[in-house]
Amino acid sequence: MNLFYGGYSMNLFQNVKYGVNCREAAERYGVSINRQGKALCPFHNDRHPSLYVADDHFYCFACGAHGDVIDFAANFFDLPLYEAAQRLAADFGVDANQPPTKEVLEKRRQKAEAQQLMENERLCVSVLSDYARVLRSWKMQYALQSPAEAPDERFEEACHKLDEAEYYLDILAFGDSYERAEVVNYLLVDGRLDKLKEKINGRDAA
Ligand SMILES: [Zn+2]
Repeated sequence: MNLFYGGYSMNLFQNVKYGVNCREAAERYGVSINRQGKALCPFHNDRHPSLYVADDHFYCFACGAHGDVIDFAANFFDLPLYEAAQRLAADFGVDANQPPTKEVLEKRRQKAEAQQLMENERLCVSVLSDYARVLRSWKMQYALQSPAEAPDERFEEACHKLDEAEYYLDILAFGDSYERAEVVNYLLVDGRLDKLKEKINGRDAA
């Protein structure tokens, strides 16, 4: 059967495919993947993220590069498939002769989840800090000059939202992991955070 590579080589391919998450590998090798699962494609001169990376495969909508995690490493490092699989096995501690146990996979999944949560927290802190900064400046800039004046809507937003933004920032800085996760979920659900980002960017562009 496997005359070319010898008996255990097929196990190497199978175990690496089974044991190494394509997305994780891409990130480990320096490809940064956004929340939509897209990245700048390393296989052509990409200006907008065209590469979609899933857990078990990748696909570039622009240049058509595609495959599994071994194809990814082979293309990325310009290696033959077999050497790419060996490299992945070495980098991710996959035993060529033995598929990873459920425990190992579960541990890896938990680690990836924790990492994702941390990234989300960082994102929330950065957007909220920007938002609070904008609100503080609005509060000064659009403050009422006289009681007869109708309040500017930016001033009103600042009065209503600044406390809330600072409250969330406090939780993200000092809360326990459960409280932090709640804030992150709240902000990421329904695109609340994206709306804040748009608001901040709109303000910068003005
Ligand atoms: Zn591409």
